[in-house]
Amino acid sequence: CGIVGYTGYRQAYPIVLEGLKKLEYRGYDSAGIALHKGDSLAVYKKEGKVSVLENFASIYDKTSNIGIGHTRWATHGEPSDRNSHPHVSASGNLAMIHNGIIENYGQLKSELLDKGYTFLSDTDSEVLLNFIEYIKTNNECTLEEAMRIALKRVSGAYVILLIDQDYPDTIFAARKGSPLVIGIGKGEHFLGSDASPMLEFTKEVVYINDYELAIVRPDELILKNLGNERITPYVQKLDIELAAIE
Ligand code: GLU
Repeated sequence: CGIVGYTGYRQAYPIVLEGLKKLEYRGYDSAGIALHKGDSLAVYKKEGKVSVLENFASIYDKTSNIGIGHTRWATHGEPSDRNSHPHVSASGNLAMIHNGIIENYGQLKSELLDKGYTFLSDTDSEVLLNFIEYIKTNNECTLEEAMRIALKRVSGAYVILLIDQDYPDTIFAARKGSPLVIGIGKGEHFLGSDASPMLEFTKEVVYINDYELAIVRPDELILKNLGNERITPYVQKLDIELAAIE
C-alpha cells in the first residue's frame, strides 16, 4: 500500500528499498522493485516483508539509476509472489506498480482476453497495465498518450508508476484518489506515497492532483492533465519537523 520511485544520478535500488521501509507503517503483504538495466527491465518481488525482498534480491546486480518500488495490500488476487508488483506487460517492455483498485477491470480483462492477451497474475493492476500496452500498440502512440486514453476508461482509484524499456531515464506516473508526492532534487527526482522516502534528500515537493499525469526525468518534471494540457507544478517547501511527524 505504498509506492516509491527514483530517477537521477544515484543508485536507485537502495533509495527505493529504504523508501519502502519508511512506508511499511501503511501495512502490506508483499513488496517488489523494478529497475531499468539498459537493455532490459529487472523485477524483484516477493510475498512478505521488505526484508524478504531484500534477501531475495541480494545476489543480483542491481546497478541502475532509475527504479520503482511497491508494497502491496492485496485486493484482487491472494498475496503471493506472482500477484506482487511490479507487473510486466505482455511484450516485456513495460513494468508497472499500482496502489488502489480498478473497479471495471473485469470488463477490460475480457476485452483483452478476446484480443489474445494472457495474464500472469490475478490482479486488477496487470489488467490496467496490459490495457495501456494494448492501446499503445493498437493506436501506435506514445506511452503517455496510451496512459491518457486508458485512464479515461478506468473507474476506481489508482496511483501508478511505469517504466518503459525504450525510455531509460523516465518514470511515468498518474493518480486518482491515491496519494502521490514528487520530490525535486538537482538532477534527480523522487516519488512517494508520502514525503517520508525523500525527506533526507530534498525539502521541495509537488503534490500531484487527481487526473494528473507526470513525466519524470532526472532534470525535468512535466505535469499534464488527461486532456494533454501542461500544468505548472506547484512546488512546496516542506517543514521537515512537521513532515516527519505526519
Ligand atoms: N489492487 C491491486 C492488487 O490487489 C493493488 C493493491 C494495493 O493497493 O496495494 O494487487
